[in-house]
Amino acid sequence: MIYQRSSALFTEAQRYIPGGVNSPVRAFKSVGGVPVFMKSAKGAYLTDEDGRTYIDYINSWGPAIVGHTHPVVLEAIQKQAEKGFSFGTPTELETEVARFIVNNVPNVEQIRMVSSGTEACMSAVRLARGFTQRDKIVKFEGCYHGHSDSFLIKAGSGAVTFGNPNSPGITQGTARDTLLARYNDIEQVQDLFRHNEGEIAAVIIEPVAGNMGCVLPENNFLQELRKVCDANGALLIFDEVMTGFRLAFGGAQEAFGVKADLVTYGKVIGGGLPVGAFAGRNEIMDHLAPKGAVYQAGTLSGNPLAMRAGLETLKLIKNDAGFYDRINKTTETLDFEIGKILNSKDIQHRINRKGSMMSVFFHIAAVSDFDEAQRANHSLFNNFFHHMLKNGIYLPPSGYETYFISDAVKEEEINRTLEAVQSFEYSNK
Ligand SMILES: *Cc1c(COP(=O)(O)O)cnc(C)c1O
Repeated sequence: MIYQRSSALFTEAQRYIPGGVNSPVRAFKSVGGVPVFMKSAKGAYLTDEDGRTYIDYINSWGPAIVGHTHPVVLEAIQKQAEKGFSFGTPTELETEVARFIVNNVPNVEQIRMVSSGTEACMSAVRLARGFTQRDKIVKFEGCYHGHSDSFLIKAGSGAVTFGNPNSPGITQGTARDTLLARYNDIEQVQDLFRHNEGEIAAVIIEPVAGNMGCVLPENNFLQELRKVCDANGALLIFDEVMTGFRLAFGGAQEAFGVKADLVTYGKVIGGGLPVGAFAGRNEIMDHLAPKGAVYQAGTLSGNPLAMRAGLETLKLIKNDAGFYDRINKTTETLDFEIGKILNSKDIQHRINRKGSMMSVFFHIAAVSDFDEAQRANHSLFNNFFHHMLKNGIYLPPSGYETYFISDAVKEEEINRTLEAVQSFEYSNK
């Protein structure tokens, strides 16, 4: 058995950790089989506990955008660690990170650091409610904004994978304040505003959705949302936890030329250490404690090791003029070549891609919202996933997730990936 040690470790883990994992999608429940336990990562590769290596297309769900364990980032973390792990006081490093981001990202005048994307989105919505003095928010079916109560309603990947669109434990009251719309359906958003006049604090969206597979905004959807929010005095929140520093340094705001009022970050911003952040213009951010009345805090917020890992990762990207062209080109090549091979095998599919995010949907012609993502053939994806895994290619373990391509993937890795796709035997059982 090729996953012998992983298998034993998973059995043991389940005795002490609910479901054996600290985040549900890791359990492979959707694709079946034993989750692979990793012991190390370097560049484009993961190594599992049985000593097998994999070309990594998740990259910790995005953070390892420069490749795993980049030597520059590693050395910076080591040096930082010698100075102390955490002080619970302000540090100069936090200002350095904030200044660097404010100077290089559009429409952001102040940024508050937290420790996860969940915290960032939860806090941004609280701030939006405090600022507008309104209670309701609009979110889109299939979008995931972390696991705080307001968002766990038709929340995409993790939740759908496990068959509960809404989690138990969310109160009716909370659910009532979260209004749902279909991704890419501007009329539905307009209707919600009409029926909830003066009550909607904010619209929150993944500007490119990554949690129902990769789904792109169509027909100027983001621009239209901007207009609807402006017309109704609501804030537009871009959840850039996936897209931030990935689609462009300035994230989706830069890539699509649309201004958000609040932006949330996670994943890439920490370079693999736990960081999230939310940001916006002074007028809004000034409402946060200690300056303003909207409370938000964190013992490990702005943690020096995490700040260092994030800053060095962001600098590597920013100081490399060809960075985005390169990872986008790699992703484009994977998209075209995988598409060609699947066509040659008569496997109907749709590949959605933006920048270095992509996903392959089977047996469907187009995917522009959550219903279509659900109509794709997920059991075929699961076969594909396991075939790739056996051949040393690590894809996200669910048809509702996005591939995150890193700069460490080069020609050799692309070729090995395509060979694995080429040997995929499709049976229509
Ligand atoms: C991952 C993710 C989150 C949650 O971030 P965590 O760090 O897992 O809490 C929020 N929004 C989006 C778009 C994400 O992809």
